[in-house]
Amino acid sequence: MQQWRKTTSSMVGAIALSLGVVGLSAIPAHGGLHFEESHHEHNEAKDGHEEDIEIQVIPANAEAGIYMLLGQGGNIGVLVGEDGVFMIDDQFAPLTEAIQTAIAELGNKEIRFVLNTHWHFDHTGGNENLGNQGVLIVAHDNVRERMSTEQVLASIGMEFPASPEAALPALTFSDRATFYLNDQTVNAIHVEPAHTDGDTIIQFAEANVLHLGDTYFNGFYPFIDFESGGSLDGMIAATEQGLALANDETVIIPGHGPISNRAELESYHQLLLEVREVTQSAIDAGLSLDTFIQSQPLADYDEYWGSGFLSPEQFMTIVYNGLNP
Ligand SMILES: [Zn+2]
Repeated sequence: MQQWRKTTSSMVGAIALSLGVVGLSAIPAHGGLHFEESHHEHNEAKDGHEEDIEIQVIPANAEAGIYMLLGQGGNIGVLVGEDGVFMIDDQFAPLTEAIQTAIAELGNKEIRFVLNTHWHFDHTGGNENLGNQGVLIVAHDNVRERMSTEQVLASIGMEFPASPEAALPALTFSDRATFYLNDQTVNAIHVEPAHTDGDTIIQFAEANVLHLGDTYFNGFYPFIDFESGGSLDGMIAATEQGLALANDETVIIPGHGPISNRAELESYHQLLLEVREVTQSAIDAGLSLDTFIQSQPLADYDEYWGSGFLSPEQFMTIVYNGLNP
């Protein structure tokens, strides 16, 4: 594994400022909105040390030129080769340079396309930088529509102003788009509303690699953005589409979490089915949110899934409120 470092003294502050929040970890607390101070902000304030954001490059199928890039925000997928670079998502604007350095090291080829899996800020934050460089930004119709206007996510207490023109997808599609480069057929497939109403999952057909965007959080409870048209049923359906495209050799890049495979995606599918079952039963039985949470309906799952972005309480609150608006 190769690693790149970029010193980012002002990055976290810039991100926090641009997002209007204290730090990067926007944590919805049970029963209300609340933000926990991120470690970055904390460290900076406490000891004045600069933060380093590492861009880690993890091979998905190195022979085919496909890698997962980890930095901060959603997992990036790249296909690198003679025909240029196809990129999936671009994290945060202050990371663009480090990300481009990492990609250049892989092939020193121009980035031609960036495909956004959905509109969220931790997947599209680099759009403006790349758009200004002439990279063609591609996404589902609803991604452009949401990025064109102010978005308010009360469930995590965040607001986003409309994005500048350069950050908007310059090419959109309603159902699917297919890219042909570097000996790959790259299928970008819009799924029914799942994490948002503009999700795309991507298949590198010949290389047998999938990028499932935020329809797949590997190893922790997923955020379902009901306010952006997301749906638990849709998350389940999207996961089933992912499973249908995968076999035992498929490498799966999740929107968040470590690189994955079909067996892990199956566990995640199981989790989502269970979540729907327990939450819908509670709502049908007239249980209040507090009673539902106190009954610890996901106790068996919490140890594995409950220590990520969302605590069990936060996850159950979002799902309960989403199914019971
Ligand atoms: Zn997202």
